[in-house]
Amino acid sequence: MTDEEKTALRERILERSVEVEVRIEQLRDATQPISPDKGLGRLTRLEAMQDKGVNEAALQRLQDESARLHNALVNIMRPDFGQCSNCGEEIAIERLQALPASTLCMDCA
Ligand SMILES: [Zn+2]
Repeated sequence: MTDEEKTALRERILERSVEVEVRIEQLRDATQPISPDKGLGRLTRLEAMQDKGVNEAALQRLQDESARLHNALVNIMRPDFGQCSNCGEEIAIERLQALPASTLCMDCA
């Protein structure tokens, strides 16, 4: 990976981090406990709880991604940055640009 690629990727990681943080905030609101007297309109309580489960799973994934993005920012200037954590091959720059939190190459993902 060239320095230019690293600089561009760093920008991409920061961009994605902002997106992830915004989404995490939204999901934190959406995963608040559902109060029993809450007026749910057309949504039944069961549906609201199912939504909450889906949102909690999404929140968990985003929190994992956020942690990986943070690691990527910390590690990006290391010479071994961008190597697959499974096989040690270099992860394609296109893949890192598309999924900046990925730590696996295409083959291992
Ligand atoms: Zn690999």
